[in-house]
Amino acid sequence: MRYLRLGPGDRLPVLGQGTWHMGERGRDRKAEVEALRLGLDLGVSLIDTAEMYGDGGAEEVVGEAIAGRRDETFLVSKVLPHNASLRGTIAACERSLRRLGTDRLDLYLLHWRGGHPLAETLEALDRLRTDGKIRHFGVSNFDRDDLRETWRTPCGEHVVTDQVLYNLTRRGPEFDLLPWCRERGVPVMAYSPIEQGRLLRDRVLAEVAQRHGVTPAQLAIAWVLHQPGVCAIPKAATREHVEQNAAALEVTLTPEDLSALDTRFPPPSRPEPLEML
Ligand code: NDP
Repeated sequence: MRYLRLGPGDRLPVLGQGTWHMGERGRDRKAEVEALRLGLDLGVSLIDTAEMYGDGGAEEVVGEAIAGRRDETFLVSKVLPHNASLRGTIAACERSLRRLGTDRLDLYLLHWRGGHPLAETLEALDRLRTDGKIRHFGVSNFDRDDLRETWRTPCGEHVVTDQVLYNLTRRGPEFDLLPWCRERGVPVMAYSPIEQGRLLRDRVLAEVAQRHGVTPAQLAIAWVLHQPGVCAIPKAATREHVEQNAAALEVTLTPEDLSALDTRFPPPSRPEPLEML
């Protein structure tokens, strides 16, 4: 596994496992737990979940997958904006910890900006951090102006990451968000790196993938991983997908690949509002 610097003195794995839509149907649970465990076996230790996913069901699936393996897991969860008051954030975190069967999160994110004052959420997150319930905190779906405001808010200086939609078809963050974060040494977590599967039928992506003898999904993940300061968290619920995604770490893109992909998926030439799913 490769790592990015996270906050002062810690590190973030560049590749993780997403869990959106896990924990929604009982009949899928066994396969989901097995997929996450296989990911851990392959060294993909970061697991990204949220209280929102499956209404807590995804956190329960993760809890089962990491039982007995907590120390080898980098565990990320998120608080819903409508819970993100001072007391609500702390209560939401306690509920997540219970569902996950652990006493601490490695990283806790505000899922997106909502109605509660940012200062209150950040104060709650910082309290959780000093109480040892979470090791780090960050934000998600924050555009550059939201990040600027965060940096000016008390406790905002402890925000270690922004998790945003970023893949070949969503390159807007390259214009200003990624450079802003890079300048400050803040890694960005790219969600939906294969655009929830919608990218996979693209002809140019398939051609480049074929040159490397890999699948389009692997190539799409490798492209995200090629970007400095960016980590990718594809979600996979089958053995085959988990194995493929872990192997995407081995794919090195050539200047010719990058240029073909730039022509097919042009980088932004002006600021674009951050998109979210
Ligand atoms: P992804 O881009 O990761 O796509 C997931 C889909 O792609 C699933 O249908 C999966 O199928 C399929 N897939 C995975 N690997 C392969 C492969 N090797 N070949 C072919 N198909 C594959 O989308 P997500 O939206 O799930 O994003 C990833 C994670 O990011 C989420 O699960 C969540 O943890 C996080 N996220 C965060 C958001 C936020 O607001 N902070 C918003 C959205 C996502 P299968 O499951 O059958 O293996």
